[in-house]
Amino acid sequence: MSKLQPLWGINFSRPAIESGGLPLITAPLPDQLVVPLNQNIGFAARALVTEGEQVLKGQPIGAITENKLSAQVHAPTSGTVTRLSVQPVPGQDPALCIEIRADGGDHAWPKYTQHKDPLKLSPTQLHEAVSEAGIVGLGGAMFPTGAKLNPKDGVNTLILNGAECEPRISCDDSLMQDSAATILLGAQVMLRILAADKCVIAVKEHTPAAKPMAHAIQQLNDKRFSLVFVPALYPAGGERQLIELLTNTEVPTGGLPKDIGVVCQNVATAYAIATFLSQGEPLISRIITVSGGGIKQPANIMARIGTPISKLIECAGGYTNTASRLIMGGPMMGIALANDKLPVTKACNSFYIADTTELSTTTELPCIRCGDCATVCPAHLMPQLLLQTKRTNDYSQLATLGLPDCMECGCCDYVCPSNIPLTLEFISAKKTLRDIAFGKNRASHAEQRFNARNERLEKQSEQRERQLNQQIEALETPDTSTQNALKELLLRTEKNKHKDQKK
Ligand code: SF4
Ligand code: SF4
Repeated sequence: MSKLQPLWGINFSRPAIESGGLPLITAPLPDQLVVPLNQNIGFAARALVTEGEQVLKGQPIGAITENKLSAQVHAPTSGTVTRLSVQPVPGQDPALCIEIRADGGDHAWPKYTQHKDPLKLSPTQLHEAVSEAGIVGLGGAMFPTGAKLNPKDGVNTLILNGAECEPRISCDDSLMQDSAATILLGAQVMLRILAADKCVIAVKEHTPAAKPMAHAIQQLNDKRFSLVFVPALYPAGGERQLIELLTNTEVPTGGLPKDIGVVCQNVATAYAIATFLSQGEPLISRIITVSGGGIKQPANIMARIGTPISKLIECAGGYTNTASRLIMGGPMMGIALANDKLPVTKACNSFYIADTTELSTTTELPCIRCGDCATVCPAHLMPQLLLQTKRTNDYSQLATLGLPDCMECGCCDYVCPSNIPLTLEFISAKKTLRDIAFGKNRASHAEQRFNARNERLEKQSEQRERQLNQQIEALETPDTSTQNALKELLLRTEKNKHKDQKK
């Protein structure tokens, strides 16, 4: 085991981070579930069922959109499809959702094999199984795992991320305490798919999961595995920051971890892979942390995808009198939700219920150039300079200063003595940069289409002229009045064609 120390980040007080001791409970099966078809980055799945149809637990109800980045969706329990409709989805655009009325039997779809030793399957079979199981990055990124585990990428190191990115989130910690051996099986499957020779498992120091994880690695006795402690700093568990900490190499701007021979997966993703292969159960449930000053009994809750968030709130004892805001994610990077009627999706790792004391009422003051924001920035940016440049609308300079690398972590806001909402400014500037790039792309595509059309018309015109000359040549010997008339007719027809084309 080794321990690393970065030069950025925020050291929150330990009680704020250590929610790893929260109890793990299972949410009861709800009567009605709402399953969105857009639970991944890329394209939404295509509905495979219609209203009135009976479904079984684990049965595919949404198929991968062909040749697109997409992920399968499965029925979280057995029951009847009662409605297909567009509904709001937490953290995503509204999408087509499948409503299922549970029959209470939780009858499983029998078509997925339970493998006694999944590692006997070929890398291709394992890769297909990962896609079949509808697995996406469960750290919140929602990238389809099948697409991320590409054997052709030349990856040699798998990093298993068990170092939760945000304070107050402990769903991964809870999973590692409960199912360390299953997580390792999932990691072995990924190593086999990637033909990689190294797996580094990263956990936060002082985490309750460290002991069971270390024990499971020892039991496995596989030389490719090692356990590394990362400091309890925010955001040490962010993908890019973790890779930099562990490999001492930065993922290039605009690049991907595979560019430096690394793939990073969440421990819950590894667990989901092993669960599918050994138990035949696709991704239909996950652990979610419910915490914050606005909830009575914070807990880690295993819940089926599609369960209303309100059921998780009930499991955690309900809201306190001071609850003020429901946030999906953690207190630093989370997104405020409109209400708790929304369903749990594969992307939901935490619901944070802020209380009234956490709402900022401070006034923004001028920047005093203290430089604190630059000290904590995990992307090595200069937030004060970015802010100044953003406020002069110099977007080309913002790109040069590395704005696209901003991971919107909120560290700069947190330390800023002038209460400047830096992250909000950067989120909006990044959107403008994307819009500018999109506009440029569209203009350049339109220009390419216009040039291609002109080239095509020119070629057609040249071809016609050649044919015309050949016909005229054929008519020119001998020169009779009928042939002259035909020649004139051909010339007239061709001129008219040219006129029509120009119109
Ligand atoms: S922390 Fe705030 S006040 Fe200090 S340099 Fe950064 S933006 Fe300015
Ligand atoms: S929000 Fe962006 S600029 Fe601010 S600290 Fe995080 S990565 Fe750096």
